[in-house]
Amino acid sequence: MLEVKNLSVKTDKFFILREVSFTSKRGRIKVILGESGAGKSTLGFLLAGILKPGLQWNGEVILNGERINPFEDGWRGRRAGIVLQDPYSSFDPRKKVLASVAEPLIYTLGMRKKEALKRAEEWLRKVEFPGKAMKKYPHQLSGGLLQRAAIASALALEPVILVADEPTSALDPPLRAEIREVIKKFSQGRFLLYITHFVEDALFFGEDFLVLYGGMVMEEGPEFLHPYSKLLLFSRVKRGSELPEIQGFSPHPSSMPPGCPFHPRCPLASSSCLKSPPERRVKNNILRCWHVP
Ligand code: SF4
Repeated sequence: MLEVKNLSVKTDKFFILREVSFTSKRGRIKVILGESGAGKSTLGFLLAGILKPGLQWNGEVILNGERINPFEDGWRGRRAGIVLQDPYSSFDPRKKVLASVAEPLIYTLGMRKKEALKRAEEWLRKVEFPGKAMKKYPHQLSGGLLQRAAIASALALEPVILVADEPTSALDPPLRAEIREVIKKFSQGRFLLYITHFVEDALFFGEDFLVLYGGMVMEEGPEFLHPYSKLLLFSRVKRGSELPEIQGFSPHPSSMPPGCPFHPRCPLASSSCLKSPPERRVKNNILRCWHVP
């Protein structure tokens, strides 16, 4: 079990994440969904052991009963891997793909070069990366192929946790579907956190959601019961697979509205929504809303 408890991230002026708590089971994909600015990537990066300069964090991350510090040696890369939105940013443009995938095996795991190249090739084959393309440079490959290589690169280190941060955002719909399939295939046996603003992607994995808004958890669970989550879903049906334009804009973390952060945009808002809704259990979900029955 992966447990995150009361995790907050802040600058010296405002919070980016506020007391985020959730649990995730091994082998079950946790989809972290929300609009841009919700704090999804900050959360994913932190769990992968990456924090931008100037940010501070507190809270607890517990893996199988053991409290861990994601910034200790041996966590990033070795126990937690990350697949980034832009695969081109994951690779050194001067190196061929096979060499790039092998490099962390040499420097992080201390493998010999020959052994590392062998394991890199095995993982590239597992994600159905074509053999001929292994000796090519990143700029010679499509985004979809390079994203496969980025997945192989993260998995070759055999992390317990894999964070996929918007891995399909830079791709066309058919390639998005392929990358989702690859990620699903390799979720077995590890904790997989899939960050997305595409409702389509969320529904593809569709078993366990964490919906963030303004750096706060609106809802966690297997269903969409919260008004914000329902609006995301409804707009998808109406408009296509892009996350909808719900009325208004999500707030910047430096100017969060009082009470429920969604109240300025929520069609169900009432005067009680000016107070922070408590966390409640509704069916199998945990959510924050005054008006979900
Ligand atoms: S607490 Fe109020 S404003 Fe917030 S989601 Fe629920 S109904 Fe809407």
